[in-house]
Amino acid sequence: MNGQPLATHGEAGLERGRVELQRYDHALMGTYGEPLRVLTRGEGSWVWDADGNRYLDLLGGIAVNALGHAHPAWVAAITAQAQTLAHASNFFATEPQIRLAERLIELAQAPHGSRVFLCNSGTEANEAAFKMARKTGKGTIIALEGGFHGRSMGALSMTHKEALRAPFAPLLERVVFVAPEVGALEAAVASAGEDLAAVILEPIQGEAGVRPVSHDLLAAARELTLRHDALLIMDEVQTGVARTGAWFAHQLTGVRPDVMTLAKGLGGGFPVGAVVAFGERAGAMLTKGEHGTTFGGNPLAAAAANATLDAIEELGLLANAKAVGEHLRTALEALDGVVEVRGEGLMLGIGLAAPASAAVARAAVDAGFIVNPPSPDTIRLVPALTLTRAEADLFIAWMAEHGTRIVTEAA
Ligand SMILES: *Cc1c(COP(=O)(O)O)cnc(C)c1O
Repeated sequence: MNGQPLATHGEAGLERGRVELQRYDHALMGTYGEPLRVLTRGEGSWVWDADGNRYLDLLGGIAVNALGHAHPAWVAAITAQAQTLAHASNFFATEPQIRLAERLIELAQAPHGSRVFLCNSGTEANEAAFKMARKTGKGTIIALEGGFHGRSMGALSMTHKEALRAPFAPLLERVVFVAPEVGALEAAVASAGEDLAAVILEPIQGEAGVRPVSHDLLAAARELTLRHDALLIMDEVQTGVARTGAWFAHQLTGVRPDVMTLAKGLGGGFPVGAVVAFGERAGAMLTKGEHGTTFGGNPLAAAAANATLDAIEELGLLANAKAVGEHLRTALEALDGVVEVRGEGLMLGIGLAAPASAAVARAAVDAGFIVNPPSPDTIRLVPALTLTRAEADLFIAWMAEHGTRIVTEAA
């Protein structure tokens, strides 16, 4: 497989895909814009399109395919569970669901009384967190400028980007946005006063362009929420599940949340979300009849998540994410046209010297590398945690020769 060349198709090499994209265009809502390619299969960090072109996937389905594509242990676990019991409804318990919840509590080193709610996506996990904030009996939620928490109405109400919000006004009340700075947070907390229910933030803002929140801000958020008897909610939908080289990004900072939301990498490609509520108070906040979802924690989804967590441990993927991430960072930082590389582990934002990320990402796909431009001057890498150094080197070489030229020409 590694002897095969990368995609170097001309126009003629995308024909089949083009026909399917026309069908797509006529059948699917236009919520995502035109897809880059039609993909047909994947293996490890590689995917193939409908015309047989091969790509190194450095986006990993947006930080989802933690084990890469079609990992044998993950496939075997899902297959075995589907042959046994795929769904049962929450009138019943299943062992995979129990095991997943126990495992998340253990990996989060969450204290006695901690509890887990299982769901199906990031936005749903944050929706549950929003309801927990309301259950404090207070109203104000402070969120950060640049923050992204999902597209359902509650999660969208805590998401900052105006273009995403504006068409759907009015959103939920009493969400206040502050710049990610200690002074701004302190001022907002002071004006919320007794009404402060929660502060929500991502330890590293993903959609904003992989922007780490400072340790000072995390510590201030922890201290202020404790003092005001409010919840500190950390959205680890993107940063969680070994992405940063730690099981959860907040573990790198020593600042522990009251509520942590997870999704993306948790199911390794199967839709799974989770809320971890730390300690007695948060763990008991949503009670019988107050929340639920039909698919949440179904045994098929739980088996996929358990297989993902097991493989991360058995294959040493925390260490791999750290090592390959550092390798990428060191090599990319040294390139002309690259200003900085932000993030941790295998969640990296390549800061470009010019707003050329869209052009770089487009050229990268044409050359056989899938990357993503979350902001005009950032290229995001959130590949499989199994990415090898040799695979990383292929992209580093392309960036050195081609990617950075696009940046310097645009500067
Ligand atoms: C992707 C993402 C979400 C939304 O998750 P969905 O599964 O798309 O609903 C929420 N928060 C963060 C930080 C994310 O990166």
